[in-house]
Amino acid sequence: MGYDDWYIVSSIDDDTWVISEPHHPECSHFYLLRGINPDGTFDNVLIDTGLGFFSIKPLVESLTSGPVRVLLTHTHWDHIGGLRDYPDFAVHEAERDLRHPPLPLSKRVLRMVATEENAELPEGFDLDAYEAYIAEPKRVLHDGDRIKVGNRTLEAIHTPGHSPGGVCYFEPERGYLFSGDLIYGACLYAQFHTCDLGQYEESVRRIAALEGVGRILPGHDSMDIGVDLPERIAAAFDDLKSKGLFKKGTGRHDYDGFSINLGSPAEKALLAVAGCFDALLS
Ligand SMILES: [Zn+2]
Ligand SMILES: [Zn+2]
Repeated sequence: MGYDDWYIVSSIDDDTWVISEPHHPECSHFYLLRGINPDGTFDNVLIDTGLGFFSIKPLVESLTSGPVRVLLTHTHWDHIGGLRDYPDFAVHEAERDLRHPPLPLSKRVLRMVATEENAELPEGFDLDAYEAYIAEPKRVLHDGDRIKVGNRTLEAIHTPGHSPGGVCYFEPERGYLFSGDLIYGACLYAQFHTCDLGQYEESVRRIAALEGVGRILPGHDSMDIGVDLPERIAAAFDDLKSKGLFKKGTGRHDYDGFSINLGSPAEKALLAVAGCFDALLS
């Protein structure tokens, strides 16, 4: 396993691509969107940038031309790795400081959690040279901000819960909702000390009520998730509440097509002390 099979690119449409990292234990996805300017040139954004184990520039340049800015769904390390290639990035106000949660990563932890079966690192990847990218954002986002990408427009929806500055990006014209780590069809992480369950619920309900979503494009795992997933996650929260389990430390709860990790009691105690695993584990 090396550069050639680290990234997989698939078209969503003629101007939108998903770039996946299938060897990440939760298969990370980030997205390239190309808009057309009035003079026919291109304007581009990446929504997240993956782990950054290898430069994403050759890949992006094979798909499009023109400037590339980055919109972050949040600042967990598996979403910001490619900022080194594309440092013009926007992030929600609540996560504008990339040093919080604490970075850089411990090499030992990185080796443990970075790859499939927590073992092999890809050929050509130099773990000792890998460092988290720390820089100032070029733009700080707020709820309701609109982002023009040539002839395309995205809306930033502040959706805290998984992380304080979580943002979903909605493109009403195409019905795309880029949901980051708030909504995907696998184990949802709500157990970290910077996860807020009340906010998570509110954000999911807000997305569930959003009109015009035709496709959800998630930050991890299956690309084939129904647009009813936000509603089903909200129903799962109701179910947990009715059982008195809607709180951290009650473990992992499995539902049809997804699960919700609220952390073990031991994990809860550990996180209260360490308070820094967010950056390492998601
Ligand atoms: Zn993630
Ligand atoms: Zn995350």
